[in-house]
Amino acid sequence: MTNRQKQHLLGYLGLYSAEVDGIWGPRSVRATREFQDCYMEQTDGIFGAETEKRILEVISTGEKPRESFWEQIRYFAREEFRCTCGGRGCDGFPAEPSEQLIRNAEAARVHFGNVADVSSGVRCGLRNAELPGSAANSLHLRGKAMDFRIRGVSADTLCSYVRTLPGVDEAYAIDSQFVHMGVGKYERGNEK
Ligand SMILES: [Zn+2]
Ligand SMILES: [Zn+2]
Repeated sequence: MTNRQKQHLLGYLGLYSAEVDGIWGPRSVRATREFQDCYMEQTDGIFGAETEKRILEVISTGEKPRESFWEQIRYFAREEFRCTCGGRGCDGFPAEPSEQLIRNAEAARVHFGNVADVSSGVRCGLRNAELPGSAANSLHLRGKAMDFRIRGVSADTLCSYVRTLPGVDEAYAIDSQFVHMGVGKYERGNEK
């Protein structure tokens, strides 16, 4: 399958609205990731043989996309996790925020019953490198970490709670209010 054909099929499903030019840029990768998110277990954004087979199957059967986990999330929006490089290093979502991470954030928000603020979600390499003290292999790069606070809750209290949540591998206070939470540190590839 050529890149043009891939873009055309992604466009047919309403996932790709840019020009069908055969140039495989960030928008093609993002559309592929969105397709995978709706119909596959893998979410690497790579349009390989498996994705090709699956997209033909979806189009020929008219299969509906599965519901995004975001529809069950009340207190956070995907936009809050956008990379803050301002478009200099990525299109905002070089990786998708991890479902486990968001479900944990939601749990913390519900547990403490107060407003949450996200100061950093997904990061591209450029943004990550700019931020002081960030690890070169930071989980933020894979959508598996976030920095946030719950208003009126100290970082220590929030941190202690975060450590009880599923899949948490990193939990530490950034300052008196904000906490870094990272999940799924040792998973690679097919994780969500
Ligand atoms: Zn970025
Ligand atoms: Zn962090």
